[in-house]
Amino acid sequence: MNLSFFLFFAFVVISLILFRFQRKKYAFYRKQTDLLTNLPNRRSLEQFIEARTTPLNLPIAVVVIDLDNFNWINEEYGYESGDSVLVEFSERLAFSAPAHSLAARIEGNKFALAIPGTYSREGIQTMLADQFLSLQSPFYISGAPVHLTFSAGVALAPEDGRNGHTLLLHAERALRHVKHHGKNNLVLYNTSFQRQDLELQLAMSFRSALQNGEFFLCYQPKLSIHSGKTDSVEALIRWNSPVHGTVSPALFIPVAEKNGFIFDLTKWILQEACRQMKKWSETNHTFQRVAVNISAPLFLSDRLPEMIRDILHDCKLDAGFLELEITETAVMEDFQNACRIITLLKKEGITISLDDFGTGVSSLTHLKNLPIDTLKIDKSFINEVHTSFEDKALVEMIIQLANLFGLSVTAEGVEKQEQLSVLQRLGCDSIQGYLISRPELPDVLDAYFTEKKYGS
Ligand code: C2E
Ligand code: MG
Ligand code: MG
Repeated sequence: MNLSFFLFFAFVVISLILFRFQRKKYAFYRKQTDLLTNLPNRRSLEQFIEARTTPLNLPIAVVVIDLDNFNWINEEYGYESGDSVLVEFSERLAFSAPAHSLAARIEGNKFALAIPGTYSREGIQTMLADQFLSLQSPFYISGAPVHLTFSAGVALAPEDGRNGHTLLLHAERALRHVKHHGKNNLVLYNTSFQRQDLELQLAMSFRSALQNGEFFLCYQPKLSIHSGKTDSVEALIRWNSPVHGTVSPALFIPVAEKNGFIFDLTKWILQEACRQMKKWSETNHTFQRVAVNISAPLFLSDRLPEMIRDILHDCKLDAGFLELEITETAVMEDFQNACRIITLLKKEGITISLDDFGTGVSSLTHLKNLPIDTLKIDKSFINEVHTSFEDKALVEMIIQLANLFGLSVTAEGVEKQEQLSVLQRLGCDSIQGYLISRPELPDVLDAYFTEKKYGS
């Protein structure tokens, strides 16, 4: 092998090694870098945060920044102009970022900063407000100045999360909060956002939950003190979600109300409760009436009477078998309208109860003029009725007042025999609570009441 051949051979081998090395380096670069702006990407940012938080538990601030109304630039000036704004923004962000921090583009028009160090909540806000000033000068598109605002969410380690994934998630939650509340602001993560997020997720899964049969009704009996019979039941909705587990109606009903889903949901509840009541009525069951809770927004809309008429007609159920529970708050929201609707429903033969009585702020005059049948005294008055002189006096007063107005009284949440004894002495008409039965599936109640433990 002569020297020139050896040199040529060595050159080829070294070139090949270098080529492979460059290719690996480029592949690594592509994996870690956003190709439009040349900033590190989400993966790289997570690794940067992870390296400081997970093994060492070092403090760090994670900021997620989103350019407000960025789509408008794309639509108004075209995608090329949009790209050049993103590139320029990324340069400004990287240039103004504090020493030792990392600026990244994590998706579309969303950027992030990871700033190692300990910051108080006020401290980071002041620091970022100063830094963001330098980002706010106009962008020039085809020579014309365009002013963009941006929103930012911040999460601090360790208090808001101890790894890259959680911190980014929480900073993005804070950002979503800003976006929903007017944009152009900076907000620090707060645990209450988790609740808002859950509500949002619930709101988005209502329709499919209804289609997939995830809702079902339980029924809780009411015992008439006079006859000793469990003559009616209250339908209480349950949601068994494959994603969120068992969701309490106290959580999802207000979300359904806020998101315009309560009409469809109550329609389903009424259909289901009336269908079940029809079944009970045909088997001579001890239950003579089913009560359905009606939310304020639906109760005060004009759609309810017609919806109920249709459902009763479809189920071939007499209106006398149906009771509606409405809350004091719903009534007080629009008293005149409430009276009008109650009168309409009563004309059909439907019974009306005022639920959670005592928790709202209805005056005696209102109560006197309200054409209802029953007051359901809220559980909070019943809890101590057997031990507290004041609570007993209050309940006694409510019962006397109801008698005066010709209304019957049901006590909610009765759990102890002592409570029942006091209520009986005070002249309460019926009770409901765990002492009699928890809310149960119809089959369970059927089995229970066929054994004639309570009731007929
Ligand atoms: P509510 O209508 O006042 O129902 C009474 C709540 O107290 C029910 O809770 C019931 O399970 C619970 N409860 C009954 N007896 C006892 C007791 O002895 N002890 C205790 N600790 N609790 C008792 P639930 O089913 O979780 O419902 C909570 C609220 O959610 C209801 O209060 C009602 O406002 C709403 N809700 C439930 N189902 C429906 C529905 O189908 N439609 C509407 N619009 N709201 C519903
Ligand atoms: Mg109720
Ligand atoms: Mg109640």
